[in-house]
Amino acid sequence: MAKEDYYKILGVDKNASESEIKKAYRKMALKYHPDKNPDDKAAEDKFKKAAEAYEVLSDPDKKARYDQFGHSAFEGAGGFGGGGMNMDDIFSQFGDIFGGAFGGGFSGFGGGRQRVVKGSNLRIKVKLTLEEIAKGVEKKVKVKRKKQAPGTTYKSCPTCHGSGQVTRVTNTILGRMQTSTTCNVCGGAGQTINKKPSEADSQGMIASEETVSIKIPAGVVDGMQLKVTGKGNDAPGNGISGDLLVVIAEEHHPTLQREGDNLHYDLYVSFPEAVLGTSKEIDTVTGKVRIKIEAGVQSGKILRLRGKGIPSINGYGKGDLLVHINVWTPKTLNKEQKAFFETMQEDEHFEPKPESSDKSFFEKVKDMFS
Ligand code: ZN
Repeated sequence: MAKEDYYKILGVDKNASESEIKKAYRKMALKYHPDKNPDDKAAEDKFKKAAEAYEVLSDPDKKARYDQFGHSAFEGAGGFGGGGMNMDDIFSQFGDIFGGAFGGGFSGFGGGRQRVVKGSNLRIKVKLTLEEIAKGVEKKVKVKRKKQAPGTTYKSCPTCHGSGQVTRVTNTILGRMQTSTTCNVCGGAGQTINKKPSEADSQGMIASEETVSIKIPAGVVDGMQLKVTGKGNDAPGNGISGDLLVVIAEEHHPTLQREGDNLHYDLYVSFPEAVLGTSKEIDTVTGKVRIKIEAGVQSGKILRLRGKGIPSINGYGKGDLLVHINVWTPKTLNKEQKAFFETMQEDEHFEPKPESSDKSFFEKVKDMFS
């Protein structure tokens, strides 16, 4: 396919002046700018073509060659070689032509600021019992982290001279122009390895095992992530270390079930215990406690032990321990027992008579969460 005429692309006459060409290009560039035409391939194409045309017509030498030989003037070495320009080239060469209109929205033109290199984060899982969660706990964990190898020295990056930025001078319509990009030798850190021990990697780092002490506050929740600043991998040179991310895993408790800050405990009492009353030892997160069960307790009753739950992670109070009473009905009876209950069938004391003050199960549940 024959290449389009550069003058046609910019919509100017062959005798157009330098300033007319510049004005025409600016108009085209603003119209087809990718910021204004996101994901529009046709606009991007026009934007690139206009940049290519302008690159030639704004340069008196190239313009003269183009006027004489057309596109063949730039075929082969030294020309565009048919590849056209990529977006980065356009932005870095003509960046400031857009400056006013796009509020300096291009990266890489700020210039001169050294990038702080941060080491990568590490992640570990810490298993905690409910008792540990209730009290808060300090855990010591072994962490494999990258550290700067002893004896490693760094020097100012020879490519960017420690600035982390590489400055390129290009000729543009506004004269010589400086653009800065991140130095690709040191990655913007401004430093490279001077000397390192043989066991260190290319960045002067070695793997080390370290014991890290982690203070875990009371009330943490399964899946929660805590951060220990600076205990991830070190960064080479004068960079800052990454963080150690600690993921909380709550271990299953044999008798207590957690629900937010509240705990639930299922207590089974025998039929005689329910009838006569008793006292029972139950588990809490701070040890066993003995609770009194009134004579005539109903199955499904919930006893609330205030403050015997988990402390709130925000530091506002504590949850409760809810003890669910379950009366165990015998499944097998001997002859005498069977005879006893048979005689009780007609007894008025064995007849269910819920008092008006006895709340239904659902009302009780509603109470628990209010
Ligand atoms: Zn550098």
